[in-house]
Amino acid sequence: MKVLVLAKLHPEGLRVLREHAEVEEAYDLKEEEILKKVPEYEAVIVRSKPQITQKIIDAATNLKVIGRAGVGLDNIDVEYARSRGIHVVNTPEASTESVAEHVFALLLSKARDVPRADQALREGNWIKKQLMGRELYGKTLGIIGFGRIGSRLGEIAKGFKMRVLAYDVIDISQRAQEVGAEVVTLETLLQESDFLTLHVPLLPSTRNMISEQQLRTMKKGALLINTSRGGVIDEKALCAALIAGDVEAALDVFEQEPPTGSPLLTAPHIVLTPHIAGSTEEAQEKAGIEVAHKVIEALSTG
Ligand code: NAD
Repeated sequence: MKVLVLAKLHPEGLRVLREHAEVEEAYDLKEEEILKKVPEYEAVIVRSKPQITQKIIDAATNLKVIGRAGVGLDNIDVEYARSRGIHVVNTPEASTESVAEHVFALLLSKARDVPRADQALREGNWIKKQLMGRELYGKTLGIIGFGRIGSRLGEIAKGFKMRVLAYDVIDISQRAQEVGAEVVTLETLLQESDFLTLHVPLLPSTRNMISEQQLRTMKKGALLINTSRGGVIDEKALCAALIAGDVEAALDVFEQEPPTGSPLLTAPHIVLTPHIAGSTEEAQEKAGIEVAHKVIEALSTG
């Protein structure tokens, strides 16, 4: 079995692959270079890059499986691959813990204004009196999308003794009961939450699901966190609300990445990270090992 690894995979994932297959690593290839190489291989492994296009799939005459170390499959023409009988496997569980913890990194850093405190101190300013934070204890956290990440986040929030509200489009009553969350409508969640966090996929139904009207429904000064996908928040409307001082925000994902020239970069009341919620050593190791096992399994069962 021959596996072509097209994006940097954790060494543990490579070790698992090498126990069962001949493995070649080839990073940062252009499409023409992939087209030349790919006919030899029965499996390819990617991360969020490179793109696996229809053209590559057509050239990959021996291909049986495409593995994605990570969640999103937007860089793979999944429908076309499956129409050609090629398995597409990914690792949706691997980054759950990392993303849930990053939400708290954002939540705490905004609640205590850590970035501003750090910057002021480095510039020689002791602005102790201006930095009045707020506690998470006893506050209400609204979770929009109560799947893997959303519900895990609810468990962590309970450790902070927060009241947890959950909204989803599917029946989440059992998981909510396990976590100790209250299932509410989106309207109630928007009205009652001090902190709100989004954990939905980007779909036509979730695009701009937080826009001017939803922002207006939120409590004054509430903090909106997004580590799901850019595009679920209307960035223009958010910018206006930030400038008006109506809400605060913490974003890890953007409509366009990187968000070069975006007014969000100069807006007040916001903390930003460059799509790193899933970027931990542990998540990368889990994704590497899981994708290796899934690819080998798909190759072995044909
Ligand atoms: P999941 O599929 O387990 O959960 C998503 C939940 O959203 C589901 O319960 C679904 O029913 C719900 N949902 C769908 N449409 C909805 C709507 N209109 N309103 C309310 N709920 C809705 O997914 P997950 O693993 O928890 O991932 C959540 C998001 O996090 C995804 O967008 C994923 O791409 C993103 N993610 C980001 C990073 C990062 O690095 N920032 C890493 C991993 C995942």
